[in-house]
Parts: sequence; C-alpha cells; structure tokens
Amino acid sequence: MLAFCSNDYLGLASHPMLVRAATEGARQFGIGSGGSPLVSGHSEANGNLQRQLAEFVQLPRTLYFYAGYAANIGIVPALVGAGDALFSDSLNHACLIDGARLSRAKIHRYPHGDLQALEAALASGDAKRKLIISDAVFSMDGDIADVPALLQLCERFDALLLLDDAHGFGVLGEQGRGTLSHFGLSGLRASPRVLYMATLGKAAGVCGAFVAGSDPLIEWLLQTTRSYIFATAAPPLLACALSASIGLIEVGNELRSHLQQRIEQLRTGLAEILPGTGWSLGESSTAIQPLVVGSNEAALSVMDGLTRRGIWVPAIRPPTVPEGTARLRIAMSAAHTEADVDNLINALGEVAHHLTPEIGVFP
Ligand SMILES: *Cc1c(COP(=O)(O)O)cnc(C)c1O
Repeated sequence: MLAFCSNDYLGLASHPMLVRAATEGARQFGIGSGGSPLVSGHSEANGNLQRQLAEFVQLPRTLYFYAGYAANIGIVPALVGAGDALFSDSLNHACLIDGARLSRAKIHRYPHGDLQALEAALASGDAKRKLIISDAVFSMDGDIADVPALLQLCERFDALLLLDDAHGFGVLGEQGRGTLSHFGLSGLRASPRVLYMATLGKAAGVCGAFVAGSDPLIEWLLQTTRSYIFATAAPPLLACALSASIGLIEVGNELRSHLQQRIEQLRTGLAEILPGTGWSLGESSTAIQPLVVGSNEAALSVMDGLTRRGIWVPAIRPPTVPEGTARLRIAMSAAHTEADVDNLINALGEVAHHLTPEIGVFP
C-alpha cells in the first residue's frame, strides 16, 4: 500500500542513522530505563537529549516525556487547578482536553480560532491563574494557530500559553525548529509566558515528547507533573535515536522543501478534481491536508475506493472531527515521490468519477 496517513513527515522513522543510534544506545545503556526519572530512570542519554532539545528550540530548558499524551494530561493539571481558568480551542487534541478535565480548573472552550471569543472569555473571569491551551498546528485540519495574537492576549490578561506543536516541530520554522520559530518567537524573542510542547513520534520519527520553557516553569513541571514523576522514564536508547534525529532535522532543509513541493503538487492536482464533487480541501499549508467529504458513509466509500487502488488514507469520522465533516486526512511526507502524489491525485479523480449521488457524495 502507498500510505498517505503517517505522521512521519520527514521520512525519518526508518532512517539508518536512527537505527544505528538506537542500536548503539542499547549496547551502551541496555533496553529499559529501570525507573521513574526522579528516582533512577533519568539516564545521561535523556539528560543530553533535554539539553539538545532546549538548544534546538532556543528556549532555556526542557523536560522529556515518554509520550505526548502523558505530557499534556500531566502538564495542564500541574499548571492550573480548582479556582483557576483554562481557555481551550474547540479543535484541540484529545490529550489537551483530557488534561483540562483532570485539572478541575474552569474550562472556557472557545470556537476554533475565534480570538474575539477568547478575549471576551479572558476579560470576563476573575480567576487567579489563567492558562490558554492550543494546538499549534491543528491535527485534523492542518491550519496554524495565530500564536502572536495568543501571546498578546496572554500579556494583556496575565495568562500562560501551552502550545502543542506535535505537527509543526521538525517541519515548520527555521531549520525545523517549529511553530514558535515560524513566527519568529523563539530565541531572544521567546516569551516567558509560553510553554512549548512537541511530540517526538511524528516528524522526529521516534516517540516521546518534550516541553520547553523558562527555567522556573520547567523546574515547577519537573517537581509537580504526576505523569512525569510516577511513570518509568523513556528508554535511553530512544533518547540516543532522538539525538540523531534532531541532528538530521537541523540539516533537513532539503527534506522540508521537497515536502513543501509535494504539498503544493497535491493542492494543485486536487483543485482540478474537486469542482462538482461536493468535497472540499481545507485551507492548509502544512503536511496535513484534510479532504472533507461530509457524511461518514461517503468518507468510507472514498477510503474504500482508494484502498482498492493500493492507496491507504483512513477516513476520519466523528467524534474525532465535528459531525458532518468526515474526511480523508491526507498526511504528506518528504518520503513521498512526485509519482506517489500523482498516483493519489489520479486515484481520487477516478474515485470521484465512480461515486454515485445515492451515497450522498454529491450536493
Ligand atoms: C499525536 C499527538 C499527541 C500525542 O502524542 P503521543 O506522543 O502520540 O502520545 C498530542 N498532541 C497532538 C496535537 C498530537 O497530534
């Protein structure tokens, strides 16, 4: 099958240098970390990775988690609790939502990208601590949050911002440093109000996650995040693989420009097919290209048509996405060739041609 559904945006997940680094890491450190990080699981390899990540994203300090889900469900309750207020974009990833629920702070859910609604919610409350949580690149739509505006609101209303850059890290910004860099908000221009979280199982091709920010905030998280403290640390061999991966991301401008060309090729190709189908391609410049089909049944039949043509794009349906917006979440990768993308465009053209109005694909 030709897959357009992996988050391996740079094609690093099976890179020989990562395999070698993991193998050497296993020889040096064994397989398991043997304990939680504050007891005995925090190896030299994990510590090196944390410093390397901090330097790479140009923020003072980082904390390395074994998974992104664990990071978010732990970080949010470590920052706010009962009596505090949380402001959450309606399309945030499930683990931010679960972290918000666990925190017991009052949750204000604002419509996707609606900064006026967010501003009104921030102005209305009298909570002692305020935290805005947002995906940086939205995982099912591929659009990028207006981070500069979110940070301005944080300044005005004395709030913190937790940004989840699972889909921007490695892909966006100067040398793949991520969405803060994309907006020129890292390094000297980094706000002390931002906590930048990114996962390492997507563009970085391994697994795990990290959160980066000011020294006091990261120290606070290290001391209080339950999903960090009460869980076995990630195996050092993964940190070794990740160190190699960050090195490749840093020198990966060619991979990123190849990826960008494939994204443009797909969008240009689909623009010719879409008229008359009732499908719509979301406004996205990132590797996530959502082809919104509408009903669940229609999305499944498009997926089925592609499967029969050797192409793998799962249909994403509610509750993962809002009712009536079932879609093919096309995920592009630097590992795709021009011919691969042509294959997908041609297959979608054939499928669109063969679908009948009865299953509700056409308006
Ligand atoms: C994948 C993802 C996560 C979860 O990360 P894992 O490392 O897979 O647990 C968190 N947030 C977003 C936006 C994601 O896409």
